[in-house]
Amino acid sequence: MDILISSNNKDKIKEITKLFDNKKVNLITMDSFPDAPEVIEDGVTLYENALKKAKILAEFTGMTTIADDTGLEVDALGGRPGVYSARYAGENATYDDNVEKMIKEITPIPKEKRTASFKTCAIFYSNGKIISEEGKVDGVILTERQGKGRFGYDPIFFVTEAGKTYSEMDLNEKNTISHRGKAFAKLVKRIEELL
Ligand code: IMP
Repeated sequence: MDILISSNNKDKIKEITKLFDNKKVNLITMDSFPDAPEVIEDGVTLYENALKKAKILAEFTGMTTIADDTGLEVDALGGRPGVYSARYAGENATYDDNVEKMIKEITPIPKEKRTASFKTCAIFYSNGKIISEEGKVDGVILTERQGKGRFGYDPIFFVTEAGKTYSEMDLNEKNTISHRGKAFAKLVKRIEELL
């Protein structure tokens, strides 16, 4: 089965591709569709945005698609930035801009209150059929970057159960325990049941 990954985020694509290793699925990237429309992520939930990405690209390409939307929910910030994680520091914010802003906001907050969770909603969309799954991981926001990986908030997201940040994990280790890994492990299982 051919499935299009409805994302232009190279880091995300790398993780998702690995999660489909040895599955009876041929993953296609957006590179095959240079004229594809840009999807405006204006939903107020992860589900809405993930579905929008999956549906618009399925309708444009005629393919079966998968998409994910991810948010970092910081307890002391009332769940912010959540669904707005990509634009936390502004419309065209870089990973570094967002991390810097988070460090600035979290630093005055007492250490024991810097808890947060990463959540992913993963969607499979095929001829109008929708399958969705979620993954969640609890952690703590650090005030200094730790580790080599540089995807999004990875350097400052300390995974409680692992005792290290996502940036200190290799791809396999992150995929085994991450928000995205958990969501896609469930989604892959359900896709396999369909095949
Ligand atoms: P998106 O809307 O799902 O593309 O993700 C929103 C933002 O969350 C991205 O721009 C990244 O900054 C961040 N993000 C998404 N997934 C991860 C992850 O696995 N680790 C760290 N940051 C992430």
